[in-house]
Amino acid sequence: MLSEKMQDALNAQINAEMWSAYLYLSMSMAAADKGLKGVANWFAIQFKEEQDHAQIFINYLLSRGGRVKLASIADVETEWDNALAMFEQTLEHEKKVTSLIHNLCAIAAEERDVATANRLNWFVDEQVEEEENARDIIDQLRMIGDDRLGLYMIDKELAARVYTTPSPLATAE
Ligand code: MG
Repeated sequence: MLSEKMQDALNAQINAEMWSAYLYLSMSMAAADKGLKGVANWFAIQFKEEQDHAQIFINYLLSRGGRVKLASIADVETEWDNALAMFEQTLEHEKKVTSLIHNLCAIAAEERDVATANRLNWFVDEQVEEEENARDIIDQLRMIGDDRLGLYMIDKELAARVYTTPSPLATAE
């Protein structure tokens, strides 16, 4: 059985993942508004991935006989100065999510909940990737500075990102 404490913490994480989805959807629209189709694509995929993260936690709670409680999703910002500001906020946000995941790991250890700890391991790895991806794009954007052609090239590169179903959902199908 899932402990009450673990269940509450997992439900809070579902909300955090949905808020992340909302944030990236907002960034995707803000980027489209600036004519940055590639950046918009990158964040649209990020939006889907965050919904997937929530779904993974939902599936997990259900598989353990837990109760899913969906809470309201708080407002997100709607305007950013430029693409760099979006990716800088993405990195800061993902660092916060990483600490939330690590906190869940600590609760799972406290509760001697090995199954949850196992499920969380996928998220631990995923967060390393999330931070690395944002950091890489920030580095590129800082490198080009105010160069419009550079921004055009990076936008083209980000347009090539394609969505792939994360493995915990792919194997559940
Ligand atoms: Mg996430």
